[in-house]
Amino acid sequence: MKNCLARMLLIGALSVPAISSAEVVVYSARNEQLIKPLFDAYTQETGVAVKFVTDKEGPLMARLKAEGKNTRADLFMTVDAGNLWQAANEGLLQPVSSKTLQANIPGHLHDPDNEWFGLSVRARTLVYNKNMVKPGELSTYEDLASTKWKNRLCLRTSKKVYNQSLVAMMIWEHGEGKTEDIVKGWVGNLATAPFPDDTKAMEAVAAGQCDVTVVNTYYYGRLMEKKPTLPLALFWPNQGLKNKAAGVHVNVSGAGVTKHAKNPQGAIKLLEWLASAKAQNLYADVNLEYPVNPQVQPDKTVTAWGGFKHNLINVAEAGKLQAKATMLMDRVGYK
Ligand code: FE
Repeated sequence: MKNCLARMLLIGALSVPAISSAEVVVYSARNEQLIKPLFDAYTQETGVAVKFVTDKEGPLMARLKAEGKNTRADLFMTVDAGNLWQAANEGLLQPVSSKTLQANIPGHLHDPDNEWFGLSVRARTLVYNKNMVKPGELSTYEDLASTKWKNRLCLRTSKKVYNQSLVAMMIWEHGEGKTEDIVKGWVGNLATAPFPDDTKAMEAVAAGQCDVTVVNTYYYGRLMEKKPTLPLALFWPNQGLKNKAAGVHVNVSGAGVTKHAKNPQGAIKLLEWLASAKAQNLYADVNLEYPVNPQVQPDKTVTAWGGFKHNLINVAEAGKLQAKATMLMDRVGYK
């Protein structure tokens, strides 16, 4: 009996290396509450364990760099194409060839060199005060620079990558000169100093401090869930245009296989699963984001906001033009 137990323990001990060699290690700038249910579902379905470390994207990228070949990370996850581009640009990721990823993720929402892939879509759009603005008065991001919005605009700080990416994409659309005029116009129209986050900017709009702002829709969703009586509404800008500036600016949260992954095949399988219909709803819905896979419907709350045309710029441009965008915002005094 004792022998038998010892034998079982021995088998148990021997089986550990087999399991751990299949495990996937993720460094994630997305928080635990968002990714744990997803990874648990993956483990339940496949038997593959997923270990993860969460932190802000800056420290995680620094850690990947410092660890080099010795890193245990197979996959790096973060928000904003600007950050994903940065990771690829610093040589922290590797290209992935996968028909499944190509089929499930639209071309403008992954790296043209396939080093990272969008897994959820976030729309950066306008939110206005329904008591102060008729939707017909709103039209485009560019129009927020016109004098009719003098002292009526609130913005989040330019220090946030979301705004750097937005301005970077506008440079791609309009060139640097025209974009500088637009952003200068925004700054001239500010009712008050920029806010540290999207929610505070919307609260200022609701309180009548200003009439319109630019935010990611999931912050609007979260705020309205908490305070449904706020006089706020979403507006989808740039819908009627036919040029490069047509469509609502979208960005992604996403992931890429690390350069020195010990289990790159396992990391690719996890990525493919995250882009699959089943995982897409789990992933996007928790944070009121949009699925990246066009075959998957968003959550009910999100669907109720109505459909809109995306701007079709490849989101990688947000990274490529980020340095120009931050310098431009600095020049026009956008704090
Ligand atoms: Fe966010």
